Amino acid sequence: MSAQCLGCGMLVSAGVKACPKCDALLEEQTDGSVLHRDIAHQHETVAQAMCKLEQALLDCRQSHACGVRLAVGRGVIREEVMRQLSWLAMNGDILDFDHDEGNTGAIMVFMRRSQRQVLRRRGTRGSGQKP
Ligand SMILES: [Zn+2]
Repeated sequence: MSAQCLGCGMLVSAGVKACPKCDALLEEQTDGSVLHRDIAHQHETVAQAMCKLEQALLDCRQSHACGVRLAVGRGVIREEVMRQLSWLAMNGDILDFDHDEGNTGAIMVFMRRSQRQVLRRRGTRGSGQKP
C-alpha cells in the first residue's frame, strides 16, 4: 500500500513518516474528512465494541481523515468508550474527543488537526494554538 503526500502530491510508500520531497509529516496530514463508525448498534458486547473502537481509530490513522465519529449508543459501551478515549487523549494517541454536537449517542474523536480547527468546545484549555 502506498500513500500520497497531500502537500505536494508525491507518492510515498507506506510507513514513510515524512515526505521526501516537501518534508511534510505524512501522518499528520488531513483532508478534513471524517470517518463514521457504528460500534454499538448490533448487540455488541463491551469487548466487541472496544475492538471496533480500536479498529476505527486504526482506520482513521491510515486514512487522511481528521477524525472519526463513533455511534456509541447511550449505555455501558458509551461509558467504556469515554473512559478509553480519556486515556488515549492523556497519552497523546488522539487529540481530543467530544460529544457530537447535541447528539449524546455519538462521540467525535479528533486525531489530526484540520483547518476547521477542531474545538470550539468547553473552554480553550490545552495547547491554545491557532492553526
Ligand atoms: Zn510532499
